[in-house]
Amino acid sequence: MTPPVLELRALSRAFPHGRGAPVVAVDGMDLRVEPGELACLVGPSGCGKSTLLRLIGGYLAPDAGAVRIDGVEVAGAPPERRSVGTVFQSYALFPHLSARENVAFGLRVRRVPAAQLRARVDAALDWVALDARARERRPRELSGGQQQRVALARVLVTEPRVLLLDEPFANLDRALRERLGEELRALQRARNLATVLVTHDQDEALALADRVAVMHAGRLEQVDAPAGVYERPRSAFVAAFFGAANLLRVVAVTGDALVLEGGLRLAAQALGAARAGDHVLVRPERLEVSVSAAGGPATDGDDGGASWRAQVVSATYRGADALLTLDAGGAALRARVAAKERPPAAGARVRVEVPAGAAWLVPASGRPLPETAAALT
Ligand code: ADP
Ligand code: MG
Repeated sequence: MTPPVLELRALSRAFPHGRGAPVVAVDGMDLRVEPGELACLVGPSGCGKSTLLRLIGGYLAPDAGAVRIDGVEVAGAPPERRSVGTVFQSYALFPHLSARENVAFGLRVRRVPAAQLRARVDAALDWVALDARARERRPRELSGGQQQRVALARVLVTEPRVLLLDEPFANLDRALRERLGEELRALQRARNLATVLVTHDQDEALALADRVAVMHAGRLEQVDAPAGVYERPRSAFVAAFFGAANLLRVVAVTGDALVLEGGLRLAAQALGAARAGDHVLVRPERLEVSVSAAGGPATDGDDGGASWRAQVVSATYRGADALLTLDAGGAALRARVAAKERPPAAGARVRVEVPAGAAWLVPASGRPLPETAAALT
């Protein structure tokens, strides 16, 4: 069996922190990335994302653990000897060199003959579609998007096996970010590069990644396909990280129902292994809100769903949809309703349906996901 292009094993790195205990920035991390795969590393500021990239890129030495590229341990090798290309958040371009010379720099360091050099630099600038005039300009004469392209070309020209990008689009506006993200995705696939992209933008991660690695305090909480981290999070942290979430605490489990905060009931069969202290996740777009059916009793549905009564606290118009804040027996719910369905206004009494399969059990911290719950997906 061929080894993965990039493999991290029990990788750790701490930093001294005044007189106190050291900060463990990366804490025993394992990760494998295959050729052509794009792994998005996400997590809050300070969770260790940049430290991890610096360990892989060779800009920082680990305290323990291994970094393997094509199965070969690269510990101790400097960045230019490990077939890894790193694009830093700041781009780190040389201000006094033209775009073209910035890209050529890495090849000059590697003593690539002049005859080859020009062709390789042109090819790299073609891949990132930098226009001809911009190639002769210095970084400060380029737009943010153009600087980003130069930074990427400068790394691609060295033909790395592994591409690392630290928040590459953080300084760009949304439209450009989305366009460059798609271009990068196509380029990285076409060149079969094992890629780790750091972002704190959860939408970007869900849109671009083959797999999303969610990092929290130096550790990986979950590594999964985008739909996995969004729809089947293994912890409340992961659930809350990806967009708005209704995370309802399980107060009690009776014979056939879960009693949630606010006295809301949900058929127990759907989430049979739940215990008090766990949470039930329902994404706002999965709730079905109707005004016409506001009367009638609340039920916990025998099909695994539920039907609750609530009052609209606020409604925020957002063009394609509206975000509703609802009060259901004291529990706050968020619902997203398509604008074409004429969202109810604040004050309206509504019925909230939880369709069968829309609820997901998030076990209390430290408790593994019960197998019965996983089997329901
Ligand atoms: P992220 O990129 O996820 O925001 P970092 O990897 O930059 O996080 O930082 C992780 C933790 O390690 C933070 O607590 C940060 O303060 C600490 N840290 C990072 N680099 C250093 C350093 N060179 N010296 C001391 N502490 C550091
Ligand atoms: Mg960082």
